[in-house]
Amino acid sequence: MALIKTQALVIKEIGVGEADKIITLFTPKNGKIQASAQGARRPKSRLIAACQFLCYGDFVLYKGKEIYRVSQAEVVESFYNIRNSIEKLSYATYFVELTSEVIEENYGGSQLLKLLLNTLHMLSVSDKKPKLLKIIFELRLMSIIGYAPNLVACTNCGSPESKMYFNSTVGGLICLKCMAGMKSRNNFTISEGALYAMRFILYSEMNKIFSFEVSEKVQEELDAITQDFILTHIGKEFRSLKFLKNMANAGELYPFI
Ligand SMILES: [Zn+2]
Repeated sequence: MALIKTQALVIKEIGVGEADKIITLFTPKNGKIQASAQGARRPKSRLIAACQFLCYGDFVLYKGKEIYRVSQAEVVESFYNIRNSIEKLSYATYFVELTSEVIEENYGGSQLLKLLLNTLHMLSVSDKKPKLLKIIFELRLMSIIGYAPNLVACTNCGSPESKMYFNSTVGGLICLKCMAGMKSRNNFTISEGALYAMRFILYSEMNKIFSFEVSEKVQEELDAITQDFILTHIGKEFRSLKFLKNMANAGELYPFI
């Protein structure tokens, strides 16, 4: 009987029958695994705490005839503070949805899980603005899955000019001369501050990527660029992101995003 002992993050849960759940786990070695957690919705179940959405835990799974079953589950980190805020929970849901979308394509592995866990940790315990965390998460994720934008020189002609623009379709920086030939496309001006932040996010060690601050103006600039970059290369509008935008438009999250 195949047995897996692993730490994993619960990235989805679906109730089944009266007391069971099917959970989707993101594991460092085996990517996404679906597992049945029998009785996990009963108040006295040993599995109840660790089999919840967003819980990171120690799991023992064994392979049944068709699907894995959770035999043991202990909480390592529950990201408690995220559950107490609709705003934080919405961002966390988006981070999980985006990750889930790219691991379906067999990308990822432990670096992606580490990025997701670190970002959830910052969202849970730090006072960093969720919107800045989103920018950092998106850019670094794209780099891990092999879509790092070129932030060194013009992506089209290689010119190292000082004044640069950003174009998601081209895949990074673009100079004024090259940009003139593609007027119909979405070109962003990019300030020195925004370019510095993007380079920092892409080229720093994983444990340093959250250790910078930007002005509100630069944050808005980065947000527009990363959103366009994600939409261009992932090609999907996420439900959780729409929800966040609707909340922001309604003013409910003011002044957070
Ligand atoms: Zn050029």
